[in-house]
Amino acid sequence: MSFRSKLIAFFVLVVVVPMVSVGFVLFRLVGDSSTGKADARLASQQRVTLNLGRELTESADRVAVLVGSDQQVAAALRAHDPVALRRRLGAIARHHGATRIEVTRGPTVVADVGTPNALFPSAHQLVDSSGTHQGLLQVAVSTAPAFAARVAALTSLDAVVSVDGRPLGSTITGLNGARMPATRGTVRTANGVYRGASSDVAGFAGQNARITVLEHSSVTGNPKRNSQLLISLLLAGFFILAVTLAWFIARSLHRQLERFLIAARRVGAGDFSARVPTVGRDDFAQLGGEFNKMSSQLEARVEELRIERERLRAAMRNIGEAIASNLDRDGLLEVVVAAAADGVGAGAGRASVRRGHTGPLVSVATTGDAQTYGAALGRAEAQALATGEPSEVSDNVTSSLALPLRSRAGATVAVVAIARAGRRFTAEERELFDYLAGQAATSIENVDLHERVERQAVTDELTGLANRRRFEERLADEIDRARRFPEPVGLLMIDIDDFKLVNDRFGHLVGDDVLREVAQVLRDAARDIDLPARYGGEELALILPGADLDGAARVGERVRAAVADLILDHDEGHEIRVTVSVGVAALGEGPTHAAALVADADAALYRAKRAGKNRTERSGAAAGARSE
Ligand code: GH3
Ligand code: MG
Ligand code: MG
Repeated sequence: MSFRSKLIAFFVLVVVVPMVSVGFVLFRLVGDSSTGKADARLASQQRVTLNLGRELTESADRVAVLVGSDQQVAAALRAHDPVALRRRLGAIARHHGATRIEVTRGPTVVADVGTPNALFPSAHQLVDSSGTHQGLLQVAVSTAPAFAARVAALTSLDAVVSVDGRPLGSTITGLNGARMPATRGTVRTANGVYRGASSDVAGFAGQNARITVLEHSSVTGNPKRNSQLLISLLLAGFFILAVTLAWFIARSLHRQLERFLIAARRVGAGDFSARVPTVGRDDFAQLGGEFNKMSSQLEARVEELRIERERLRAAMRNIGEAIASNLDRDGLLEVVVAAAADGVGAGAGRASVRRGHTGPLVSVATTGDAQTYGAALGRAEAQALATGEPSEVSDNVTSSLALPLRSRAGATVAVVAIARAGRRFTAEERELFDYLAGQAATSIENVDLHERVERQAVTDELTGLANRRRFEERLADEIDRARRFPEPVGLLMIDIDDFKLVNDRFGHLVGDDVLREVAQVLRDAARDIDLPARYGGEELALILPGADLDGAARVGERVRAAVADLILDHDEGHEIRVTVSVGVAALGEGPTHAAALVADADAALYRAKRAGKNRTERSGAAAGARSE
């Protein structure tokens, strides 16, 4: 059922039904009242009619007394001579104006003269001089038509006299067998509708005559019709007024609803700028107000969500880039701080690491306006460092949040902080930040581990120099490069002289120390592009990119001299001195591949040993040259 149908149903219920009821009741009341008035008029005229009838009966009484005392009548009765009796009664009737004289004995009519229309008989018992009952005498002086005419003249009403429903006299033509009411009622004739009131009076031969006075409906009906017309007009007026009002109200409601519907449809379609006009303070205005509030809330919420989504997208992008790139620890922190700042809409972010266990914080990555928010970031960082806990610091202007990143061992290795102007961070934002930072801590540890493993794979544990694997890789690379951009590569092979003796005299651990010290000498002698390496045991090597045989020999000699100058203190006041023998070879001056270069350098080293140790020997051609 639509809203409009409900309104119409409601209107019918509260307006039409009561109106029809009131109209019905009013019509009944008006009808009853006019009928009541007509009945009252009829009743009073009925009394006049009956009085007239009584007068006529009294007149008949006098004639009856005359008949009762008439000698000839008595004689005819005694003689049982009906002809004589009739003659005499006819004479009396004519002479005294009787309309009917009848003598009956039991059910037998002895004599009856006059008209059957006679009315209002006076009845007397006839008794002769001997006291013998001679019959019943009835005398009338009026007739029904005459009586009806007189009544009409006296009362200006119509009158009907009827016996057994048969009219004897009437002032109305066209009765058409209409029955008269027993007391009061409506009579329909060919002439129209009448209101009638009846009373029964005694008639001849024990039959009652019904006297009815009637008033035509044109008399009774007029005021009734006027009242009914007035009521109809009033009701119609009220109905029109109600319909008009209802139409206006329904139209205004409909329009208001339509505006709501249009606005709701727009909101439903995603246009949250939809508003409904609100006028006044009625329920619709309040509903509209609430609707508008809801729309603007939705609009704001959607905008927030859009911004949030943008942030998340940016964060995802950052993280994606982080995954795609080869990360070191600082690079990772950069991504984390950018993602955290984007994720919670911070104005700035900063990641700082601690060099060593107690060193100061050093900023390694910033995002946003770290200058403006520097102080706020610093406060949160300091608190996080001091407590080792996530810390939020807020004043009236800024809010900042810092989180310490701990290693598995529990030490704080870095602090990530974000700051923004205004509102504090929500629990949700803190949770996101915690999560990101927690992930970062794990990742940093993984990166560190990875770096360490990588380092270990190419580094000699004892000396910290490149290991044999790294040495061979690098030598191959350098030779490869030297082939493409022709330039020399020098190589030193270095062996500690009589190292077995050191081990034997001072023990293996001291031997290790010596090895480390010699390695340090090699490191010190190397340029950035050179690679010092442990070739095996107490044999070391140095790759010298760009160095020819002479250059390499100079470096070898420098190393040899530096080791010879080295004095290693021993606990018990002993001084330990070692020397090294150095074999020198260079690419481009004989060998053309790595194995040959190493073999050449080895051969030179062997010669140095043979020549008495603590010396530098050149390979190949040079050696040959010297032997010449
Ligand atoms: P040479 O002058 O002929 O080289 O005499 P040398 O005693 O050095 O003889 P050689 O090179 O044959 O001996 C190497 C010795 O170095 C044997 C081994 O015990 C010792 N050595 C090798 N690696 C290490 C090490 O890592 N630590 C220690 N302490 N000693 C080592
Ligand atoms: Mg050796
Ligand atoms: Mg040796």
